[in-house]
Amino acid sequence: MRVRFAPSPTGYLHVGGARTALFNWLLARKEGGALVLRIEDTDRARNRDEHTEAILHGLSWLGLDWDEGPLFQSEGVARHRRDVLRLLAEGKAYRDFSDPESVKAEAAARGVHPSKVVRERAVVVDEGEAERRAAAGEPFAVRFRVPDGETSFVDLVHGKVRFANDDIDDLVILRSDGTPVYNLAVVSDDHAHGITHVIRGDDHLSNTPKQVLLYRALEYPEPVFGHVPLILGADGKRLSKRHGATAVGDYEAQGILPEAMVNFLALLGWNPGDEREVMTRSELVDAFTPERILKKSSVFDLEKLAWLNGRHLAARATATLLPLVRERLAARTGSDPDRVADDAWMSALVDILKVRARTVDDIAEQAGPFVGDEFPFDEGAVAKHWYKDREATAAYMERTLAALRACEWDADALEEAVRGLASEMGVGAGKLIHPLRVALTGQAASPGIFDVLVVLGRKRSLARLENALGRVRVT
Ligand code: GLU
Repeated sequence: MRVRFAPSPTGYLHVGGARTALFNWLLARKEGGALVLRIEDTDRARNRDEHTEAILHGLSWLGLDWDEGPLFQSEGVARHRRDVLRLLAEGKAYRDFSDPESVKAEAAARGVHPSKVVRERAVVVDEGEAERRAAAGEPFAVRFRVPDGETSFVDLVHGKVRFANDDIDDLVILRSDGTPVYNLAVVSDDHAHGITHVIRGDDHLSNTPKQVLLYRALEYPEPVFGHVPLILGADGKRLSKRHGATAVGDYEAQGILPEAMVNFLALLGWNPGDEREVMTRSELVDAFTPERILKKSSVFDLEKLAWLNGRHLAARATATLLPLVRERLAARTGSDPDRVADDAWMSALVDILKVRARTVDDIAEQAGPFVGDEFPFDEGAVAKHWYKDREATAAYMERTLAALRACEWDADALEEAVRGLASEMGVGAGKLIHPLRVALTGQAASPGIFDVLVVLGRKRSLARLENALGRVRVT
């Protein structure tokens, strides 16, 4: 099995393209086949080197390694022309000298399709005359002569697909400037590269009968085709920038993990046939079968991506998250560089934050009150847990402070001290814990309070609680 991913470098790596790449990669890894990466760089007006770079970077970030390439379509132009010349020589293609404007005018005047006019004009130019005119330097395009009948093929996803050849115009395969056209180049390349399975987006389904006809005319064996349904936004419309980021690089920048993105993309239009949703790369490889690619479009659900990312974050070895978190902390103000540089301490912090975060950005944000002493207080949390009943809160804080001061600084001992105090006072532990949490983090929600105390350390924890008590106490 040889599959390929064949992006055009006319834009950044789109999530739809990334999913196509992923399905090909999964298939190659599952079947022990090879994945060929081919950059289809024949649209000179729209190609950009930076897009090629971004595509390669995006694939590497996702961990979708390829076995051959990157090959460039432009390197095959001489071969593309040879294929065109062969079709011409065999009478399966013809030179079209007509001027598109006059064809359009005649077609409009007669009320017929322009392709009919093109064909009629070609028929009156006999071969000898066509060759003379070409030799004299008159510009022409080469068109493939679509035979009569119908064209069908068996698609891995859609089953048998048929097209009436009447609906297919004689397509240009070589432009008048001598450049090959996509449908010809792709057939020539896929044959030359020994591709056995062409898995790509549904947007190419209408090209496939043309390509199948070209395979047959060139007498090249046809690959198996599989067309993957579109990705839609939540509103059921084709996914576009209106729905949020569509470039894979944007998700990298947002702190989505590559393994979460891969998991998410795999479930867009495919499922493992059981209840599993959170899956590692190797579980996906083991479970992948193209037969389970769904026929209907799938919806790009950002909420699900965030959820999957949270699950993969929690599963990640903390050491591998540290560089990502540090990178983001470096972009924020108010961190103490010594604390951020301390591996053991940072690991303890990320350990307690990663299990409740959805993105690396979340971790960096929640790390704020730990890595620095200047942090914002959530007004709602302060109003609710400090000022609703100041007198009682001050009393809780005072007693908590005394209990903590007397306590050994480890999570179990701290928990015992606080819970013991609550029962002694005849109140729920929340009465003590909520004001304490706000004092330590400024927030109503945080990791377990005893972990927070340990990671913050004795000195900082006591200082923050004292400071809060000073603000709450009614003097
Ligand atoms: N270069 C084409 C594209 O980016 C894909 C060609 C193919 O997969 O056949 O849409």
